[in-house]
Amino acid sequence: MKPTRPTSSSHRILIAGAGIGGLVTALSLLHRGIDCDVYEQAPELREVGAGLWISANGARVLFDLGLKDELERAAIAASERAIRLWNSGEKWPLYEAGASAASHKPYVLLRAHLLRMLQDAVQRLKPGAIHLNARCAGFTEADGKVTLKLEDGSEAVGTALIGADGIHSRIREQAFGQVESRYTNALAWRGLVPVDRLAPHQARHAVYTWVGPSAHVTVYPVRWQDTALLTFSAQVEHSEWQLESWSVKGDPADCLRDFAGWHPDIIEMITHVDTLHKWGIFVREPLPRWSKGRVTLLGDACHSMVPYLGQGVNMAIEDACVLSRYLEANADPVRAFELYQNERKERAETTARRAADMQGIFHNAALASRETAGDYILSQWGPAQNAARYNWIYDYDATSVKLRSGGGLVGAEA
Ligand SMILES: Cc1cc2nc3c(=O)[nH]c(=O)nc-3n(C[C@H](O)[C@H](O)[C@H](O)COP(=O)(O)OP(=O)(O)OC[C@H]3O[C@@H](n4cnc5c(N)ncnc54)[C@H](O)[C@@H]3O)c2cc1C
Repeated sequence: MKPTRPTSSSHRILIAGAGIGGLVTALSLLHRGIDCDVYEQAPELREVGAGLWISANGARVLFDLGLKDELERAAIAASERAIRLWNSGEKWPLYEAGASAASHKPYVLLRAHLLRMLQDAVQRLKPGAIHLNARCAGFTEADGKVTLKLEDGSEAVGTALIGADGIHSRIREQAFGQVESRYTNALAWRGLVPVDRLAPHQARHAVYTWVGPSAHVTVYPVRWQDTALLTFSAQVEHSEWQLESWSVKGDPADCLRDFAGWHPDIIEMITHVDTLHKWGIFVREPLPRWSKGRVTLLGDACHSMVPYLGQGVNMAIEDACVLSRYLEANADPVRAFELYQNERKERAETTARRAADMQGIFHNAALASRETAGDYILSQWGPAQNAARYNWIYDYDATSVKLRSGGGLVGAEA
């Protein structure tokens, strides 16, 4: 584990939101001897069933924070990754098609597991750093200080504020105003199924993405204590507007209707699902800027993205690492935030754009019949396409990317 320095800097950073982005930021700052506190609206850091994957770019940051052993214990390193055809189940392996297993093998685990790991690590470095039941309402900035206002009327004062408060960020709203979101005509079903309810062949350390004409399903194994589970995220085109919420419960009968005619493995999973949630998939235009004075944004608050490249979590982790490195290198948070924005904005927004482009690649009319599906899949997931699509994402190393020392703001006037 990297040695942790005692609090040594003049910064005192306030973080709104204890999601994955906020917690990795806190951990990364505390590792660098920078004092911080996290303010989270929820009464406890409990998470309903959902899986996530940590790709190589995210894993590098967690390893650097001393979490390698814990991550390896909690997660499953998928030994197989493949595209599968929605009705026949035919497979096109990805590791043999340009995606090298060594750098492209994701760690798959439950969000709850990762949140708990991060929460424990933050508490070990600074007990009491995470303040629960603390809903942020806004902030003021004056005399080299930021005051974070909580809804219960209390306040916290720091030298700078990071809004890691997710898609509906209050900090973003106050700093930059309302941001419109647009429904993408697709919704996602996500569920967890105990593996022992399924046919034995479904218990594999594999990540499968099943593709069809107007839907796709990503399936992977996770474990919770002694229970082996499959988690799935099934995106399907739906023209009627849906709610953008992670916690809306779904009805398996509706989900089964969406996947009528799909392979028996998919039908079996939906039929035996334990918890099923659905959320409307939305996109937002990029913000002109992320930082304003002593306030900046991170993760979904500034670059929410559709889940089609599995990068929402990983980009937030990268942000956290780069931001804390800039704060370590700069006594002036205004400058640190400007440099952080310049380093991160283009990469995160390119990822968001390319993730959105995947909708038309995953859901394609050519997949309707076997005659056209094979050629289509080879044309989209061949070695050259896989390398071009994934390598620039997975090869980025936030722990060592060269820090900038100057340059104007990206994408906007200062
Ligand atoms: C319950 C849930 C399920 C998700 N499921 C998926 C998924 O299946 N697939 C996928 O690709 N992405 C999913 N995401 C999104 C993905 O996890 C994010 O892209 C990624 O975690 C980025 O993290 P973040 O820290 O920026 O935001 P988040 O993980 O959303 O964390 C934001 C945190 O801020 C807190 N918060 C919000 N407002 C306030 C406030 N006013 N005051 C204090 N605290 C506040 C929230 O309670 C939350 O803890 C999910 C997010 C959530 C919250």
